[in-house]
Amino acid sequence: MNRVLADEAESIRVGEALGRALDRQSAFVTLTGDLGAGKTTLVRAALRSLGHTGPVRSPTYSLIETYVVSSGAVHHLDWYRLGDDSELEALGFRDLLGPGQSVLVEWPERMPWVAQRADVALTLAYLGDGRQLSAQALTPVGDAVLAAWMTEIG
Ligand code: ADP
Ligand code: MG
Repeated sequence: MNRVLADEAESIRVGEALGRALDRQSAFVTLTGDLGAGKTTLVRAALRSLGHTGPVRSPTYSLIETYVVSSGAVHHLDWYRLGDDSELEALGFRDLLGPGQSVLVEWPERMPWVAQRADVALTLAYLGDGRQLSAQALTPVGDAVLAAWMTEIG
């Protein structure tokens, strides 16, 4: 899937649709893209549409922020400052992957051997004043999420 996100409002709309897709099927999603490409914008919009009303802070320093929504837990991670595997293990990453929990990871390229287990790989790139979004399903769960997402975007 490829899509131009012309402005922030469109990123939010598409992010909200992603949230509705994850409401139906939880998944492990990675978000790759330069600083300011819009990774956190997408996650924030997804969390809002999943019913989270409080702030969504970038987990750059905390490494993980967990939100409990009606469909289950959503874990938002940022691996930019992650040292190595042991740090990921210390966060209890292994236990985050499972039914009823979604995992959204920024800077997955820091741990490619973990990121390769994702259901959906998203990439955001600067394109003029907007952004280019591409999404790839890596598993059958990812196929289902992408299909639901497409439907939700309309
Ligand atoms: P990241 O998490 O990738 O570092 P953020 O989501 O924190 O990026 O910041 C993205 C910035 O780009 C924000 O200032 C946001 O307003 C802006 N932005 C998000 N989506 C778009 C878009 N489609 N077009 C233009 N600007 C956007
Ligand atoms: Mg971010």
